[in-house]
Amino acid sequence: MFLIVGNGMVGLAIAAGLSRKVAPEQIVVVGPAERPNSASMAAAAMLNSFAELEPGALKHPRDRLKFELSQASARLWGSFVEEFDIPADFYRLGTILLNNNASNAYEDAAFDAIKGYLQEFAEPYEAVEPSVETSYAPGSEYRSRNALFLPREGVVNPDGVVHALQASLQARGVRFVDAKVVALLKQGERTLGVELEDGEVLHGDRVVLANGSSATQLWADDCIKVINGVGATIVLKNPGIQGRYVVRTPNRGGACGIYHAPYQGDLFVVGATNLITTLDEEFPRAESVAALINGAINQVNHQHRSSSFVRYNFGYRPVSLDAYPVIGRLNDNTFIASGTRRDGYHFAPWLAENLSALLLDEPLSAQAREYFDFTRPQRSAFVDESIETCSRKYAAVKCSALSQHGFNAGHTDADVAIESFYYCRAMDFFEKNNVAQAVQVDFIDALIGGYLSLADFN
Ligand SMILES: Cc1cc2nc3c(=O)[nH]c(=O)nc-3n(C[C@H](O)[C@H](O)[C@H](O)COP(=O)(O)OP(=O)(O)OC[C@H]3O[C@@H](n4cnc5c(N)ncnc54)[C@H](O)[C@@H]3O)c2cc1C
Repeated sequence: MFLIVGNGMVGLAIAAGLSRKVAPEQIVVVGPAERPNSASMAAAAMLNSFAELEPGALKHPRDRLKFELSQASARLWGSFVEEFDIPADFYRLGTILLNNNASNAYEDAAFDAIKGYLQEFAEPYEAVEPSVETSYAPGSEYRSRNALFLPREGVVNPDGVVHALQASLQARGVRFVDAKVVALLKQGERTLGVELEDGEVLHGDRVVLANGSSATQLWADDCIKVINGVGATIVLKNPGIQGRYVVRTPNRGGACGIYHAPYQGDLFVVGATNLITTLDEEFPRAESVAALINGAINQVNHQHRSSSFVRYNFGYRPVSLDAYPVIGRLNDNTFIASGTRRDGYHFAPWLAENLSALLLDEPLSAQAREYFDFTRPQRSAFVDESIETCSRKYAAVKCSALSQHGFNAGHTDADVAIESFYYCRAMDFFEKNNVAQAVQVDFIDALIGGYLSLADFN
């Protein structure tokens, strides 16, 4: 029996991969049917390999490998949709990558870097007027004529895919248990099963922790910690706007900029915000929702001013303390598959194939072996940058975020002063705490704010 803890996109992808190879009745997926705070119900969900890159993003071999696998996964989405009876219109290709002036030069550098990577990897793209996308009609002070069309990057309808995939797996015979796991029942180096909230026990021969950002709450020992990348998207309705493609900016200040994707009918999803924390926040912050609404109206389509605000989606990205995935074996028969952070959807078809192989002790490709070597749970957080470089990057990211949220220095040098303030803030933190080794920029605020301790990173 294969017991998968967690019913988000990653848990379902594992079940899908296993269902190709073992009797589906041997597969059990456990998770609350409502999926509270699940990242998978909050995502957009875009399928981007190139559009999320930043300068220097591929300088480490690990990043290059992950990037190549993300492209491999993108190519698997079409057949995955067909195989699991996911409605074809839940999967759309075509992204307009936009460079506008709603944030600072950090975004320009990312845009140029993406263009460089597109050329380096001979990826098809075209310089276009962004107005080729019918949903693009921004406020006049935010208009842009600088855009690239990426025909092989797209989006899936997130909850649509999750529900269709679950229905398809159930029809094959996979069992879904609407419950929350409270503990693993271990004996020596094995896990015998899991205990549910009501005391019931489910037994498993192989157990996978795929419960997103709470995965390491069930397995604290000898495993890099996974915490929450709290994020929101919103859904807007406007029958007057016709959408074909995703419109998005490059990443900005610790998140993915503004994106706008056709969702279904006259609905659009706009994303996304990001807050790294160990707290289980209950609702999105007002500033986050305000930023998404403003971004949609100002930067994508001014007609969104009269759109209906249908809802927000809210969930916790699973983020490990070095921001890489956490995938691998925990004991003789227990595995973890978490930490997908911003690309759990994008990677789902690749994970389906390769995680099922890992669970079944099947031979893996050299690339998959190398990938699972660096995603191993028993690692300390990877850091390759000096404290100086990390502090400079932190300052640049903070200023990018500020500019995105409307900060304008006017005719003063306040922007320079603020960048220097953030640089000193990070340097002071590292010096006061006698830190010789940097951490990933994303975690500095959580460390300074006391949500994380440096001991968590060892
Ligand atoms: C705002 C936002 C935007 C995003 N945009 C994109 C995007 O554009 N493209 C992309 O590829 N990815 C995106 N992501 C990331 C993507 O959503 C995640 O990588 C992916 O959904 C993670 O899936 P998961 O199954 O690991 O975790 P989750 O989706 O969080 O699922 C975990 C599931 O486990 C259940 N669970 C938790 N604890 C237990 C327990 N103890 N017992 C049983 N079940 C439990 C939860 O209820 C939940 O349903 C985004 C995420 C967010 C938040």
